[in-house]
Amino acid sequence: MEKTTVLITGCSSGIGLGLAARLAADTARRFKVYATMRDLAKGERLLERLGGYCPDTLEVLQLDVTDPRSLAAAAQRVQGQQLDVLVCNAGVGLMGPLETCSDHAMKTVFDVNLFGAIRTIQAFLPAMKRRRAGRIIVSSSIGGLQGLPFNSVYCASKFALEGLCESLAIVLRPFNIHLTLVECGPVKTSFLANLQRPDPEELQDLDAETRGLYHRYLQHCQSLFCHTAQEVEDVLQAFLEAIGTPCPPLRCVTTQLFAPLSRLRLTSPDGCAFVQAMHDFVFGRGEAGGDQP
Ligand code: NAP
Repeated sequence: MEKTTVLITGCSSGIGLGLAARLAADTARRFKVYATMRDLAKGERLLERLGGYCPDTLEVLQLDVTDPRSLAAAAQRVQGQQLDVLVCNAGVGLMGPLETCSDHAMKTVFDVNLFGAIRTIQAFLPAMKRRRAGRIIVSSSIGGLQGLPFNSVYCASKFALEGLCESLAIVLRPFNIHLTLVECGPVKTSFLANLQRPDPEELQDLDAETRGLYHRYLQHCQSLFCHTAQEVEDVLQAFLEAIGTPCPPLRCVTTQLFAPLSRLRLTSPDGCAFVQAMHDFVFGRGEAGGDQP
């Protein structure tokens, strides 16, 4: 049986590592996985998870989605094989009041989350189009569907990714290429620990009210992750379905936690009800200046 070839970005940790390990360890050996990461020194974790090399089902490749030469080299390496599934998973976060977000940090978020995904799709799409077959799966986020406080730049990058993919999916339909956005809520990975945050000194320059709101947001975030974060294995199901079902959906939300807020965005299109409800969800009802103009 011919193997389904899958290339995944951001496999050094978290969801990418979990997906690569799951597919490479498939008992029926149905997949050939190109697990890519920007720093090959971090490949040990994946190999440890798999109990060593799996030459039949796994190849680890260097790929930094912000570096066109690295992308070209990875595409060249895979060229001989037909790529069935591309998973654009690499991503970085940025949290904090907007006033504290440096130009460099904001550009990095867009360079990885949006332009990195665009570059990766551009590198592999022509071959999929020629074969008139393929799947593209993109790690989006609930933050790509609704604004989350103190995550404005991260949300902006994921909203942009959503727009990009929705637009592209329409054009890919006649080519028999399916595109799926997997929209996760909190997941137990190193994402929260890895994300860029403001230095304490930068926070000192802020007005006291924003500082207070940010501290309350951090508490909310900690509690949300503590009580509701999904295991990587749970969100992998959405990726496996996008790979395996004959006609996968454009969007797949992995948690129903934010469904009431999502519904509000649809039923109340002027956004007022959503802003109030998200404010109450994070900061508590009627508190923190909710009544101020
Ligand atoms: P993670 O453990 O921090 O993994 C992020 C991965 O992206 C790492 O392998 C990281 O590699 C890689 N990466 C960062 N910059 C890169 C670059 N320039 N080129 C290639 N790879 C790069 O977090 P995760 O939770 O698995 O995140 C995976 C995806 O899920 C992201 O797109 C994220 O936005 C999305 N997501 C996560 C959550 C969550 O709560 N965890 C929620 C919603 C959406 P390094 O080790 O080299 O940094």
